[in-house]
Amino acid sequence: MTQITSNRLLEVIEKSRLVDPVALQTSLESIREKSGGELPEDPVELCKLIEESGLVTRWQCEKFLQGKYKGFFLGKHKLLGHLGSGGMSSVYLAEHLLMKHKRAIKVLPKSKLGNNSYLERFQREAKAIASLNHRNIVRAYDIDNEKDTHYLVMEYVEGADMQSLVRKHGPLPYAVVADYMAQAARGLHHAHEAGLIHRDVKPANLLVNKEGVVKVLDLGLALFSAEVDASLTMEYNDKVLGTADYLPPEQAINSHKIDSRADMYGLGCTMYFLLTGHPPFPDGSIPSRIIKHQNSMPPDIRVDRPDCPGELDGICVKMMQKDPKFRYADCNQVAEVLEAWLTKHRRDLIDNPSKDAGANLTVSELMSDEHKRKSNQNIDTVTNRGNKTQGGKVGLGSSVVSLSASDSGVLRAIAKSDASTIDSKIDLVHDSSLPNAKKSKSQAIAKANSPISGSTNAQPAGKSPLVKPIEKAPQKAATTPKTASKTSSNSAVLIGVAIVTLLILTGILIAIFATR
Ligand code: ADP
Repeated sequence: MTQITSNRLLEVIEKSRLVDPVALQTSLESIREKSGGELPEDPVELCKLIEESGLVTRWQCEKFLQGKYKGFFLGKHKLLGHLGSGGMSSVYLAEHLLMKHKRAIKVLPKSKLGNNSYLERFQREAKAIASLNHRNIVRAYDIDNEKDTHYLVMEYVEGADMQSLVRKHGPLPYAVVADYMAQAARGLHHAHEAGLIHRDVKPANLLVNKEGVVKVLDLGLALFSAEVDASLTMEYNDKVLGTADYLPPEQAINSHKIDSRADMYGLGCTMYFLLTGHPPFPDGSIPSRIIKHQNSMPPDIRVDRPDCPGELDGICVKMMQKDPKFRYADCNQVAEVLEAWLTKHRRDLIDNPSKDAGANLTVSELMSDEHKRKSNQNIDTVTNRGNKTQGGKVGLGSSVVSLSASDSGVLRAIAKSDASTIDSKIDLVHDSSLPNAKKSKSQAIAKANSPISGSTNAQPAGKSPLVKPIEKAPQKAATTPKTASKTSSNSAVLIGVAIVTLLILTGILIAIFATR
């Protein structure tokens, strides 16, 4: 960092035109008074005192201390801070010069201008957001450029993205997960109705504001479903795959031949992340994780959260089905089942107020460590009681939604042909885990042809249709003498029946030949 003097610092602040000169002088007077008549010699200390007077932000201070005084204005906005950087842009917090409202401004770095598709993609994102108007989707207000600085002015969401929330606080309470996912599903459904597919649904692209409102972000990969100019996105096809950890199987094969249910898959994986604290397939190289999305189901959520309500688990598993036809029909249905579950869950809480620590958490509480303390005291077993998960109806009045057996998350069989054609369509070059890919494929097919196995310690067998401990059953048979003898007598009967059938068949054959 360039070291500057206090005097130079004041010059830089003045040159930046960020601070009204009269206000700056007043602030400096007050600093002098407090510091015995002189300004601090240390520029860092001086800048900190100016910042405390509210004239500049910390981020601006950092820039001043590096001797920078240009680039603080974009159109009618002044930049206050840096909110984040994504794959193709930097996002800044800004304030409108006259109206004073806060905005998020996404700036396309000049370095990306050389490649035309980046600018087109940037403009595409602006066009996509501008075509939407929903409380669960970040709004766009303007797209503009100052010379070769292209920027997009958006609604500023003061809060945190779900990736950071979980990184900071761990897996979220069940009611919070259901609420966030229902809101995101509503936002996505609105986009789908407008003919847009997001294609990059993941925790980092879902922001939650301080009031707990979820906002879908980053439509940079969005595709208008009726779009004809596929060439544009094809041009940078390798970059439009989305993020490996949340990538729908069909999108990996052809990112243009997908429908809105691809976003549902990404949302299902996001829900899995919120519930467990990790993506469905956290290990291995990128290609091997993509393969797992093609042909394996992730470990049961109850491995991480043994008390996870069965219906919530089931909803998540259904959203993550490999074959889109086994997912929900659309994101509206996802929102409905989640909202219905929430209504039922909250009703249960009125009867048993101590059950769910997270049900009524505000986002600020969630963002504090308070929820952890609460959730350690209470364990939510709501839907595991009294076999309530089985084909139950959730919701009240008009919002009643049936959770059918398929809603409860039984993994439907994936046709073997699907799984075998998939591998060949994906570029497996350099995948160090390739020798295992074959194995995992056959395991996946075997798993796909059986009901999803439950966590071994979740609850006793038969309590819920969601958790059939199929892997444990043979062990039990081997160790129980009564069951063992029953099994062997069954086998004897079977062998007998087979012999008799054979004899009859042989007799019939002899009779046929004899008559000829
Ligand atoms: P990219 O399109 O380059 O991937 P993103 O849209 O993902 O960039 O934005 C990068 C980061 O900037 C986000 O993860 C988020 O933290 C922050 N951000 C983006 N848009 C907003 C917004 N409207 N309000 C607040 N923060 C935002």
